[in-house]
Amino acid sequence: MSSARSSYDASAVEAERQAAWARNDAFATPTPADGDRGVYIKPSSPFTSGKLHMGHVRDYSIGDAYARFRRARGDAVLFGFGFDAFGLPAEMAAIERKVPPAEWVEGCGERMLEQMKRLGFSFDYDRVFYSSDEEQYRWSQWLFLTLLEAGFIYRDDTTVDWCDSCRTTLAALQVEDGRCWRCHNEVRLIRRPTWFLRITPYLEENDRRLVDLEDWDEISLSTQRYILGRSDGVEVELPGPDGEGLAVFTPHGDAVAEASFVVLSPRHPSVDGWATDPGVREQLDALRSGGWERSARDAKSVPLVDIGASVRAPWAPDPLPVLVSPIVDARYGPTAAFGIPSADEADESIAARVARVEEARANGSGGQVTGAREAVRYRAADFSISRQRFWGTPIPIVHCDACGAVPVPAEDLPVVLPRDVEPTGEGNPLAELASFVDVACPRCDAPARRETDTLDCHFDALWLWVPAAVPPEGRAESMFDHPELRTWLPSERLVAGSDSGGFVFDQRVVTKALRDIGPFAFIAEGEPFSGCLFHEMVIADGRKMSKHLGNVVDPDELVERYGADTVRLAILYAAGPAKTLNWNDGALRFCDRFLRGVWAYAQERFESAPGAPEDPEAAADTAFLRERLCKWSDNGLARITADLEELQMHKAVRNVTRLFERIQDFEKRVVARRGELGRADAEAQVAALLLLARVLAPFAPHTGEALLLAGGEDAGELPGQWPERLALPATSSGAGTS
Ligand SMILES: [Zn+2]
Ligand SMILES: [Zn+2]
Repeated sequence: MSSARSSYDASAVEAERQAAWARNDAFATPTPADGDRGVYIKPSSPFTSGKLHMGHVRDYSIGDAYARFRRARGDAVLFGFGFDAFGLPAEMAAIERKVPPAEWVEGCGERMLEQMKRLGFSFDYDRVFYSSDEEQYRWSQWLFLTLLEAGFIYRDDTTVDWCDSCRTTLAALQVEDGRCWRCHNEVRLIRRPTWFLRITPYLEENDRRLVDLEDWDEISLSTQRYILGRSDGVEVELPGPDGEGLAVFTPHGDAVAEASFVVLSPRHPSVDGWATDPGVREQLDALRSGGWERSARDAKSVPLVDIGASVRAPWAPDPLPVLVSPIVDARYGPTAAFGIPSADEADESIAARVARVEEARANGSGGQVTGAREAVRYRAADFSISRQRFWGTPIPIVHCDACGAVPVPAEDLPVVLPRDVEPTGEGNPLAELASFVDVACPRCDAPARRETDTLDCHFDALWLWVPAAVPPEGRAESMFDHPELRTWLPSERLVAGSDSGGFVFDQRVVTKALRDIGPFAFIAEGEPFSGCLFHEMVIADGRKMSKHLGNVVDPDELVERYGADTVRLAILYAAGPAKTLNWNDGALRFCDRFLRGVWAYAQERFESAPGAPEDPEAAADTAFLRERLCKWSDNGLARITADLEELQMHKAVRNVTRLFERIQDFEKRVVARRGELGRADAEAQVAALLLLARVLAPFAPHTGEALLLAGGEDAGELPGQWPERLALPATSSGAGTS
């Protein structure tokens, strides 16, 4: 046993425990017994942004407490992650510093890993990976080709912002007040071919499965519902432009007879059949390339084209005018909808903008509607996955004049991204690199050109939860069919920020696609996470932290001043996961006092020598207090256990602090009764303090373990089994007469 220090020196305690963990490889992923399922706890995947922020600390403190708890309960735990290392923020940071993005990302990752270790997070650091590693992105390319072959990826035109002077497309983030972030030139919109991910085939299943996700918290479920954008209503089949049926939807099932127009999404396949007039076509082209994604969404200003066509509804006195507007997409997805001004405010606004509709309205509503059937629409839609950027996964496609877009054969993967390029923000570095672009067509061997767009990092994220479940040495050969995947997938719990809903939604889609294609056939439900906890962000002074506002709280400074355990405990204690955490030093000071208090109190009791064997009669006098201590401890333990099972760490920490109060209360009562603690009392109290140290360990692991050691636990046994109840030594139980 190391000699106890009565005053709490966080940095010494933490350095000692961290050295022991490293020595013992304490967080290595175990191999569960044959056929047993492991518990894979998935934290959020950090962007390689430079350094950890308080949101990360919140995320990993929750996940780490849960991981340590499950290990103590005897589960085989995998707690691992990888960096989301490709993407625009890294590229922009590298441009600013005039270094290759690969170099910037590596430096960031190393710094962030150091911070995580200093905070004592129990990740399996051997399983950490970067999405920008060749070994990693060759599987992003494999996934692209696999989804392409199965029809889940297609190419279509889309509208993007373009800067003439930088000769590059710009992301929304790079457009400030309509001007280029780099040169402040005015940007314009252009059409260019883009790769899309088809998610619509799985919207219905993603919706249907929500009711089975019992271990998902309410925020995570509500983000899934929001992204789906489900509308329930009816649809009626009307005659379309080519004699084919046109299913028209409305959520106002009881008001169909009052419909006075039909409005189509610009992406609806019927639009082109109707819009034959060159003037109308021109308007539609302008609408489609007119940046409607950036335009106002409200019905008064949303782009609207009257294509001049009408559709006959059997019940209506006049044919219904047909309009085209992206407002349909924003409400119901790429579909056709009835315009019912009497039942719908947005429709009322649209009707007021089109004279033809106003006239039709004046003729009154129709008679009995027949053929209406129940229907559902989802707002969620396919989205583009390619970007004209350097820092991303190269798309494994070769463009050949004769053969078109040809997939790179699997044996030729990866298509390697040159690592020594320093993008400047001007042009597209890949497109200007002959050694990258010029290639023979894999199909006909004629000179051809590589695709020079790269994949958006959202695409990498589709499977960023998979690699941690594969041991590093197996990743090159069998990322998607490694036997360990069956041990760890689906992940038992995702812990992530509440802004991760979009990622998670698309991960759920791709898991289902891979299930149906084959590799993930063993995940029958097609769900990557059987449990999910979303937490809100950490703010300061009631506002989002930003350099600009000067309110950024730096975790390094806090750890330096208070120690990692105090910071971890405070961030858990300060608010429940569903609440935005408005950071202030109050929780920090409270937790600092608490840890110092527990430390000094417990050390002193551990050190005092056991009293002499006592007179059974005197011992019996305080037996009821020892029984009460048992009851308090067991109740506290039961509450803390339940809180941990539900990842409600703020409640758990509160209950840990209460348990400490109870233990102090016990001593006060004994002293009041008999002047001092007898031997049985002291032994009962030490047992309760050891229990306290054990339930503290998931949240403040350094302090918890150091206290267990000070209390006589064997270092080899740490962190030890999660207790089921307070076990008193035989001499201190009951009346002490046995
Ligand atoms: Zn520019
Ligand atoms: Zn060819």
